[in-house]
Amino acid sequence: MSSTSAIFSSAQNILDTIEARLLLSPDDLRSITRQFLKEFELGLGSYGYPMAMIPTFVTGVPDGSEVGTFLALDLGGTNLRVCRVQLHGSSLFTLTQQKYKLSESLKTGEASALFDYLADSVDAFLTEEGVGVHGARGRKGVRREEGQMFDDDEDEDADYLPLGFTFSFPVEQTALNSGKILTWTKGFAARNAVGNDVVKLLQDAFDRKHLHVRCVALVNDTVGALLSRSYTAGKSILGGIFGTGTNGAYLEDVSKITKLGPNHPAVARGGKMVVNTEWGGFDNARITLPSTPYDNILDRLSINPTYQAFEKFISGMYLGEITRQLLLSLVDAAPTPLLFKGKSTKVLNGHYGLDTAVLSLVEEAWVAGGDDAGEGDAGEGDAAGEGLTNGEKPAYPGPPAFSPTLTLPPHTILPSSLPPHPTPRTLSALERVRKVIVKEFGFGGDGDVSLGDAAIVRWASGLVARRAAGLSGCAVGAVLVQTGFASLVGGVNGDMKVEGENGDTHGEGVNGKKEGVEGAREDGTIGVGVDGSLIQHYPRFEEMVRESLRELVGSEVERIVEIGMAKDGSGVGAALCALQAIKQQPDILMNQAHQAPKVTHSYP
Ligand code: ADP
Ligand code: MG
Repeated sequence: MSSTSAIFSSAQNILDTIEARLLLSPDDLRSITRQFLKEFELGLGSYGYPMAMIPTFVTGVPDGSEVGTFLALDLGGTNLRVCRVQLHGSSLFTLTQQKYKLSESLKTGEASALFDYLADSVDAFLTEEGVGVHGARGRKGVRREEGQMFDDDEDEDADYLPLGFTFSFPVEQTALNSGKILTWTKGFAARNAVGNDVVKLLQDAFDRKHLHVRCVALVNDTVGALLSRSYTAGKSILGGIFGTGTNGAYLEDVSKITKLGPNHPAVARGGKMVVNTEWGGFDNARITLPSTPYDNILDRLSINPTYQAFEKFISGMYLGEITRQLLLSLVDAAPTPLLFKGKSTKVLNGHYGLDTAVLSLVEEAWVAGGDDAGEGDAGEGDAAGEGLTNGEKPAYPGPPAFSPTLTLPPHTILPSSLPPHPTPRTLSALERVRKVIVKEFGFGGDGDVSLGDAAIVRWASGLVARRAAGLSGCAVGAVLVQTGFASLVGGVNGDMKVEGENGDTHGEGVNGKKEGVEGAREDGTIGVGVDGSLIQHYPRFEEMVRESLRELVGSEVERIVEIGMAKDGSGVGAALCALQAIKQQPDILMNQAHQAPKVTHSYP
């Protein structure tokens, strides 16, 4: 072997090794799901586990008939939102909202400054929306205007506007309207907050500003997604978030939340309760998570090393950064750079410089025109860099049309899974990807980025996103098994024989199980509400989640899982939760003992 070809073959090895480490086999997916189920049980049994399995005191999901008007405040990610939500019944709602910026200094400064800012934002919203609370200042209570909060209630004195607070961080909840902050996640680190009651922190800020607003319910965004999806699309069993972070909440039997203890009133009452899993903290010990060097760098340089391990593989905050680390390792590869001829840019050099949204742009450029694409081409697009679940090199449909004028430059190094002689359609897809890279990475022009570079960037970002979707499938699959809607292929102890492909032949017992399982819809579908920019915008994210699900619970169950966006989940969910709070405690909005405001409907 000449020294040049030795370099090329070792370069190819580097790429192939990366690919092998990022692909998850069906066995990987199943053992991760098994670990998930173990950690569910630990968290339901005792306090203090990273996957905290937090009881939310939400004891059912709505059915769409609920009515009322509420404020909602949403803190937990990239934006702060204030909303006014009107539930009309018949699964319909109206929502008006304003977004407010959150600076880094607010996220990491004193908690009181952060909560003052929240109160100021609510104040600004009420002013802008012309809600009557300002007329109440210096008076006894809130002036009610027609069509405002609780239009049914004629009472003019002493009432507060009800607000549901979507606070999407781990909180050990003790009631619908109280809970202590356990830890910050997703880049927040405000001082003097952990250990405090988050509802009190907010209410104190409202009171300091003499705002007649009462925080009646504390809601996680996952719970919001579950409730709002149930309200708009029929009862659901799981709410999942795939945005800045990732997390899920599901409907559990109270009897399985054994850490509540036998004397807890909720246990005496029985029935169901929504549990906020905090699955972002799954497998912090990294027993089953497939860490690569890029994951390790990301974790080491994060503000919470070792914590939120699962989230760091999956969510919008991190996928761009994992990809950036991977790409940089190729830029810096020795003895020969494998990307951009060893050149980098400001975007690539900056910590968190590559936004996950850019991964979506790359993928969109790659699949663009896919709908009207000829079969062969779409197939080829599909195959490149993929093959999550079969653990083998992807097969390419037919021999690619070889055209000497359309080949990549000689000695272009690509992973073995990419076709060396792309079709004209693939080349035009690569041209589109190159344009995105030049623009989003901040290169000087097309000359800085070869088509081979474009192929490698799309391959790398596709692998990172695919792994994220596969792991997301493990979380969803674990909930399906935990709730009795499915059996895990291979058994929860991994001791059952796996036959056939895609779980088709081993869905045994699954049908028997799902009938009569509480929470299934009348039409037999299993509802899952999701929210977050990643699942909403990354091309085919849901499809890849489903692929993973098929390996875990079989295609019979996967087919009846209905995954839908929980539109405005945090706003509508907070409103639904506030409604439940008022039902449980009718005088919660009163300044003095007064008649309760009328609430037209409620859910169990
Ligand atoms: P939040 O989680 O704060 O409520 P989002 O659901 O909008 O908000 O998620 C924001 C996260 O999603 C950010 O980390 C951002 O990088 C990522 N993101 C934004 N747009 C896209 C997109 N088009 N594709 C993939 N990820 C995106
Ligand atoms: Mg959100």
